[in-house]
Amino acid sequence: MTRSIGRRHGPRTLSNFVGGSFAPAADGRTLDDLAPATGEVIARIPRSSAVDVDAAVAAARAALPAWRRTSVAARADLLDAVARRIGERAEELAELESLDTGKSIRTARTVAIPRPALNFRFFAGAARHDETGCHSMEGALNYTLRAPLGVVALVTPWNLPAYLLSWKAAPALVMGNTVVAKPSELTPLTANALAEIFRDAGLPEGVFNLVHGLGAEAGEALVAHPGVAAVSFTGGTATGARVAASAAPRFKKLSLELGGKNASVVFADCDFDATVEGVVRAGFLNQGQVCLCGSRVLVERPLFQQFVEALVSRVSAMRVGPPSDEATDLGALISEAHRAKVEGYLALAKEEGGTILCGGDRPTLPPPYDKGAFLNPAVVAGLSPACRTATEEIFGPVVTVHPFDTDAEAVAIANGVRYGLAASVWTRDLARAHHVAAELETGMVWVNTWLLRDLRVPFGGVKESGVGREGGRHSLEFFSEARNICVKL
Ligand code: NDP
Repeated sequence: MTRSIGRRHGPRTLSNFVGGSFAPAADGRTLDDLAPATGEVIARIPRSSAVDVDAAVAAARAALPAWRRTSVAARADLLDAVARRIGERAEELAELESLDTGKSIRTARTVAIPRPALNFRFFAGAARHDETGCHSMEGALNYTLRAPLGVVALVTPWNLPAYLLSWKAAPALVMGNTVVAKPSELTPLTANALAEIFRDAGLPEGVFNLVHGLGAEAGEALVAHPGVAAVSFTGGTATGARVAASAAPRFKKLSLELGGKNASVVFADCDFDATVEGVVRAGFLNQGQVCLCGSRVLVERPLFQQFVEALVSRVSAMRVGPPSDEATDLGALISEAHRAKVEGYLALAKEEGGTILCGGDRPTLPPPYDKGAFLNPAVVAGLSPACRTATEEIFGPVVTVHPFDTDAEAVAIANGVRYGLAASVWTRDLARAHHVAAELETGMVWVNTWLLRDLRVPFGGVKESGVGREGGRHSLEFFSEARNICVKL
């Protein structure tokens, strides 16, 4: 097995993966990849241009006729082989993901890296057991075939790089499409390892291609490319709007998983300790850099003070530190620029009348971590639920807390944002939970839990959190075109 990236051996040079071979950008330009926890350069990656995107799309088109004719069973077997190899390299992948994103090694081992193997195994099984419809009418029989779309573009963000790329690549490939992926230039390492795994598992040349580079250059060129039939994008809402505009003139099939400003709705009759734990996890997993994070904590007034005290005490006890330390709860944010954005929101919170109950300052860490983008997790109280801090996506370790008096008020606050991705409801009264869940304008609601995932269920947002659904048959349907065959009997 070849490993192009070692550990702790200084900066490595990564390549694009096109037509089964690793190669630099045509013009040789590169970008530095920094470790968020230390600011050190850990890799140099191709700064790809439209020329490199053309080459990748051409390789994917050349591989398409043979790949789409391969049986679903054979494609599913290849996905299983990929899952096995991810399992064999799990510890290496967890270290790469932690190094590249700044997340704690514990989060990488328990959340970020187990999922890619599960994704490949799950979609292999889902495709094997998939069914299409048959409609019998007088004198004729209709049946439905699922045809691949062609070359599909997968554009993914930096917060959960391997998790999200595999979530798209697995269904795209098993449905017979060929792929050109553009990961975030901030986190290229595990995408590169995944390309090695595809090659080592025997995926035919050109079926999976990887182009590194900037969103505004390589990403834009890929999304707009006339040879690309569909775009599956996960990222920010503003970028999603640009991607939709680039894809629209050619009527490309489009899936957009975008930002969120999710509410954790806590009722006075909740299981107190379990709810504090759940709300802390929802607020701060991955330094609060998960699209599903519950960044607005709404608490029924009789419990408000007691709950906020417990929340602050639990959040203050979280350990911020070196990602490689097993005891670390929160590692670094993705970059200095992103930390500055989060700090900007904390300054705004004060201007808007908020009080920072804990955190929001930079921890003192020994070298080399003194150069990292660390931030102590913050709880902010005293804000109007309609203010900017409480309605805009911060995407960092910051939650705002708000009291409410009635179910209707809780629902109105939760729904009072332009996003509609997810929510969680915490109560022992299940009738109330069903009622409130039905009123929430989000694609997903968890009751007395958060981020409990069954990979068959629809995943996605409403309003400005996205268009389309991923997961189970939703992904298989997105990455295929239903075709009806009508046979006169
Ligand atoms: P961005 O929107 O900045 O980037 C996402 C991807 O798009 C990156 O690969 C980026 O490349 C690329 N990109 C940027 N501009 C363009 C363009 N014009 N055309 C094509 N591609 C482009 O998101 P972040 O990486 O900052 O990720 C954080 C965001 O992702 C948050 O808003 C979060 O809520 C959202 N997200 C949503 C999820 C969901 O399932 N709904 C899940 C996870 C995150 P580059 O980085 O090189 O600029």
